[in-house]
Amino acid sequence: MATLELKNVHAEVAEEGEKILNGVDLEVSSGEIHALMGPNGSGKSTTSKVIAGHPAYEVTEGEVLLHLDADDFEGVEEIPEEKRTWNLLELEPNERAALGIFLAFQYPAEIEGVTMTNFLRTALNAKIEERNELLFEEEGEEEEEEEAGYETSPMEGPADEGEIGVAEFQQLLSEKMEQLDMDEQFAQRYLNAGFSGGEKKQNEVLQAAILEPAIAVLDEIDSGLDIDRLQDVANGIEALRDEQNTGVLQITHYQRILDYVEPDTVHIMIDGEIALEGGPELAEKLEDKGYDWVREEVYETA
Ligand code: ADP
Ligand code: MG
Ligand code: MG
Repeated sequence: MATLELKNVHAEVAEEGEKILNGVDLEVSSGEIHALMGPNGSGKSTTSKVIAGHPAYEVTEGEVLLHLDADDFEGVEEIPEEKRTWNLLELEPNERAALGIFLAFQYPAEIEGVTMTNFLRTALNAKIEERNELLFEEEGEEEEEEEAGYETSPMEGPADEGEIGVAEFQQLLSEKMEQLDMDEQFAQRYLNAGFSGGEKKQNEVLQAAILEPAIAVLDEIDSGLDIDRLQDVANGIEALRDEQNTGVLQITHYQRILDYVEPDTVHIMIDGEIALEGGPELAEKLEDKGYDWVREEVYETA
């Protein structure tokens, strides 16, 4: 079981020094669904970006840790004892992703000639390679390999050793798309070309299904979805948990999607801190009473 742990995280905007997070404590383990809720501007997206390692934010205090068990990755040897706890703040975004933290890629534009299938296979192979380097290689091994010229772009040519080839990936993709009830033809489309809002969201869930992260952070995946799409996306999130034991940190302003995916724990963020925590009933209370009620609640007991 993997656990993502935020301990007293303070963060500010890197250039301007504006303080946004004021001591966030949060813990999400694989197989669990957590909702992170809060009013606009409370710091939810900043929390997700700090977890992923977005360069626009600087963590000034606190820790972001990832704890792994020896057998957290299927089909590989045991993770050595000294490589089971990671200080994510010392790692690059792609290294965090390789160790099992998922935040959807924001690719800004259509990329001519790159299909979803190619893109996802490339992303998966890059992740596996980076993960194996981090967990199993001794210092220096990687450079030798590069010098020897073994590195090839996964986008072209035959599969490298340990890499997922075209046919194998096709099989995996079909399974995942069936699981998510997605049209197979979707995978043949060019990246981002004319995707509707709903398709982008479903695509985000598909990325997570392919990469099989320990922890997936989904920021406002419910925004702008009609009821049918919302149901599809919700089913997809449940599949992430049920089929691959991914832990989900679902960030949402609205209670609506929680009618479709029941969270184990609800965290409510106000002014850059977790103000309240509880079970799914907390989200329902919010629906009735709004965030002002949380403020009153917190100030009364403070
Ligand atoms: P939420 O996702 O809860 O709506 P955000 O984390 O996006 O909130 O933003 C929290 C606060 O930090 C807001 O007041 C926002 O304007 C500010 N903020 C976030 N990112 C930046 C940035 N890169 N530069 C300046 N201010 C920012
Ligand atoms: Mg916020
Ligand atoms: Mg946000």
